[in-house]
Amino acid sequence: MGKLLVLILLVVLAVWVIRRAFRASRPAREPEKRPLEQQDLVRCARCGVHLPRSEARQAEGRLYCGEEHARLGAGGA
Ligand SMILES: [Zn+2]
Repeated sequence: MGKLLVLILLVVLAVWVIRRAFRASRPAREPEKRPLEQQDLVRCARCGVHLPRSEARQAEGRLYCGEEHARLGAGGA
C-alpha cells in the first residue's frame, strides 16, 4: 500500500516536472532579438558606431549614437 502511494506520488511529480519544462521552453523559443534585427541600423556621424534607428539621436539632419555626440557634431575636432 505504501509503495503504491509512493509510486503515484512519483508519477504525479514526473508529470508536473514535464509540464513545467514544456511551459518554460515555449516562450524561450520565440526569438526576442527579432524586432531589434528588423530595425534599421544607422551609423553615428561622429564615431561610426552602428545602432538601431530608434536609439539614435538626430541633430542637423545627421544621426548620432548619443546626446553627447549629437552635441559635438560630425566634425573631427
Ligand atoms: Zn557616436
